[in-house]
Amino acid sequence: MNREDVLNILDTLIPDPKCSLHYTKDYELLIAVMLSAQCTDERVNQVTPILFSKYDIFTLAHANKEDIIDIIRPCGNMNKKSGFMIEIAKRLVTECNGSVPNNREFLENLPGVGRKTANVILSNLFNEQAFAVDTHVERVAKRLGLALVSDDVVEVENKLCAYFEGESFLKLHHQLLLFGRHFCTARKPLCENCPFKKMCKYEEKEQ
Ligand code: SF4
Repeated sequence: MNREDVLNILDTLIPDPKCSLHYTKDYELLIAVMLSAQCTDERVNQVTPILFSKYDIFTLAHANKEDIIDIIRPCGNMNKKSGFMIEIAKRLVTECNGSVPNNREFLENLPGVGRKTANVILSNLFNEQAFAVDTHVERVAKRLGLALVSDDVVEVENKLCAYFEGESFLKLHHQLLLFGRHFCTARKPLCENCPFKKMCKYEEKEQ
C-alpha cells in the first residue's frame, strides 16, 4: 500500500474529522487540552462550559485554587491541573494581553503544556503545519509501520511529517487519532475488517 492508499482509506473512514474538544476562544482550547491529560475529551467537555461560564482568562489569573479544583475535579489530577491553569492564565494575561500567541517556544514553556499540546494549538488555532502526536496517533503510526516501535514521540512526529509532507497535518492528526480511538484501539483493535490489514505490522511486532 502506498501513501495515496493510506490517505484514501483515512478519507473514506473519517471524511470530516474535527477537534473533539469544545471551545469558543483560543485560551479555552489551550486549557481544555491541558485538562485532557489522562482524561477523556468527553469529561473535559462536561467541565469546561462550567469553568468558562464563571471565568475568563483575566479572572482565571486571579482565581482561588480551591474553587478551580472543585470545578475540574472530574478531570483528575485537579491539584496539579488547577495550579497549571492559573499559572497559564497569569502568563497569557501578563505577557500576551490574554491571547494565545503563535509561538512554539512560549507555549512549550507553559506549565502542563508539552510539545503535543503546543502542536495542537499551533495547528488548530494558527493553521501551522504541526503534527500533534498523542498516544493514539503514536500507536497507529507504529502499527502501520510509519514509525518504529522503538521510536520516541519526536521521532514519530518527524516521520509522520516526512511521510505526509504536503498534506494537512491537522486533518491527519484528527484522522489518526480517531482511527486509534475507535478502530485501532490499544487493547482490542478491530483488525478483522481493517482496510490497513495488508500494511499493518501489529501482529509481528506487538503480539
Ligand atoms: S489491522 Fe488491526 S492493528 Fe493493524 S491498523 Fe488495523 S486495526 Fe490497527
